[in-house]
Amino acid sequence: MNKFWLIIIALHFFFSGSTKASYPDNDTIPHYAELLSRYIRHASVTGNERPAGLFFSTVARQKGFYVEVLTDEPGSFNFTASLYPLENNKPNILLLNHIDVVPASGDLEHEYTYPPFSGTIADGMVWGRGAIDNKGMGVMQLLGMEYFLELAAGTDLPFNVTLLSVSGEETGGYTGASIVVNEFLELLNPIAVYGEGGSGIPGILKRDPERKLFGISVAFKRSLWLELRLTNITSGHGAVPPPQYAVKEKVQALNRLLDRPQRIRFSETTRTMFSELGKVEGGMRGLALRNIWLFRPFVLPAMRQEDIVLSLITNTATITSINSPAGAANQIPQEIIARLDCRLLPETRTEDFISQIKKVLDNDDIYIRILHEREKTPSTQPDGFYYYFKEALETVYPGAGVIPILAPASNDNNYFRALGIPTYGILPVFIPAYLLETIHNVDERIPVDALEKGIAVYRELISIIIRSKYDGMINL
Ligand SMILES: [Zn+2]
Repeated sequence: MNKFWLIIIALHFFFSGSTKASYPDNDTIPHYAELLSRYIRHASVTGNERPAGLFFSTVARQKGFYVEVLTDEPGSFNFTASLYPLENNKPNILLLNHIDVVPASGDLEHEYTYPPFSGTIADGMVWGRGAIDNKGMGVMQLLGMEYFLELAAGTDLPFNVTLLSVSGEETGGYTGASIVVNEFLELLNPIAVYGEGGSGIPGILKRDPERKLFGISVAFKRSLWLELRLTNITSGHGAVPPPQYAVKEKVQALNRLLDRPQRIRFSETTRTMFSELGKVEGGMRGLALRNIWLFRPFVLPAMRQEDIVLSLITNTATITSINSPAGAANQIPQEIIARLDCRLLPETRTEDFISQIKKVLDNDDIYIRILHEREKTPSTQPDGFYYYFKEALETVYPGAGVIPILAPASNDNNYFRALGIPTYGILPVFIPAYLLETIHNVDERIPVDALEKGIAVYRELISIIIRSKYDGMINL
């Protein structure tokens, strides 16, 4: 989980300003808080997931789930816990989470209220690395599934529900989700995936700022990293500069890139996102959001002022480094290399984007090389599984709005979405922005009552799916 939170936090502040919430102290510690606390104590910084994975899979096995360890190798521990054995090959609903966490940042002694891997339960919260991202979510999913163990044992449901806990999400998913989709897809037989995403937040809706809004991600902006190399063999002494030399040319070209007008594009996903937001919002603002293309002369100037909103409607190119070979201060380098971190909207093709960049740079001597590229992935078109989750959220959080959204960065969900499997990203809890800011940061923590609500959402979700598949035949 990375940049995704930034948008949620920024949207929150953009629309409302901060909101404080208080949580009751718990005299008796609920079992789910205790489980999360123990899970956090098994520190699992990326590459070292095994002890935590063994712990969590053992808990699942003891509860009665069918557990399969998919990989158990140095730096890669991936497992499943299911209502039915995977060998049955039933159509499978995957609840995806990751075992790994980012390292503890900051000054351990002075900045942390409680040590980051202590799993301390205090002030109505569970504290520590992974509390929100993503061990807390794993616990919600597992305990949400637990309610259906008995039912599954006594009934031949037409589908399976499987917790999938993977390694390596924080560094690109190469030791986790990537291996799973490449080697175990047939075994898993997924028909839908519910993975990580943003949480619900207050303050987005202007007419009713107290109303909760959840965004379920159905698409993402993909990364494209470019290297721009410019070589220009000129005289080498800085005292008599030639009319053009590599550094000067590159700076001029990069200036053109920075100054280019940002072309605004409303992809199908963003249009749907604004349209659904408009429906929830209502009133004049809702009308404008629902018909954003029509109202664009009025809304675009405001959108251009807001980095996060702008990032959802434009392809971006950020200069992340400029380097030339080290030399004396009076030496003219013959070569200069810049790197760009570009983020493309789901509909944009790499070759089209690069040719636009070339046009803007307006220098044929600049050689562009692709350093890394996430493959173009179709957005998930909200299907029944989207609406099941929406209903579950609305049941646990009465009055909440739910919309499909575009995420500004990708995560493990994408490995599944790339294969055309309906994939939805959401953390089904309602957490104030100041707590979201603790993700990847000092004092990561989750309120105990948020954890409880999250469990309730997954429980409700599975219950809704069972009811819909059996058309009321089973009384849950
Ligand atoms: Zn994460």
